[in-house]
Amino acid sequence: MATAVLALQGAFAEHEARLAELGENTIELRSADDLARPFNRLVLPGGESTVQGRLLKELGMLGPLRERIEDGMPVLATCAGLILLAQRLAAHDDKGTPRLATMDVTVERNAYGRQLGSFHATAEVAGIGPDVPMTFIRAPRVVDVGKSALALARVDGNVVAVRQGAQLGVAFHPELDPDLRLHRLFLSL
Ligand code: GLN
Repeated sequence: MATAVLALQGAFAEHEARLAELGENTIELRSADDLARPFNRLVLPGGESTVQGRLLKELGMLGPLRERIEDGMPVLATCAGLILLAQRLAAHDDKGTPRLATMDVTVERNAYGRQLGSFHATAEVAGIGPDVPMTFIRAPRVVDVGKSALALARVDGNVVAVRQGAQLGVAFHPELDPDLRLHRLFLSL
């Protein structure tokens, strides 16, 4: 079995590299045909959520992936991936762009403004430990965590990591730092 990495756009190669370091086989999802290949986990990389959502819909991949996530397939969603998982977007963000919408959170896109477009922080992540390095790039902010989801980490009071069953969503880019703890947690789900 392998971990499928959505490879339509964005920072998918870095996730593949981190997973390879942990000895995990990966396949790339680029079209609906790839969904027939064997995989039992999914990574949704950072990038541009509107582009990714539109492509998922156009390529006929949105519904099948949503079904598998709802059936309990573990998913690691980073940044744009977290936006794709969110059931709700902040009102000014919601242009009706297609999303997977499987996680009970509300997310605001590009929430840190221009000055703070990118920044680095370290924080504790519940279940992983302290000092997890976190690289934020035009990151979303989790503005509400619904009853079905659980906040795992905060930076400056903002929720930056959320879990709901086997869905793990983070606002930052764990694939860009050498710390492998988050990918390890994902592989343990
Ligand atoms: N700003 C991007 C979006 O709204 C997310 C940025 C990222 O994935 N690094 O989709």
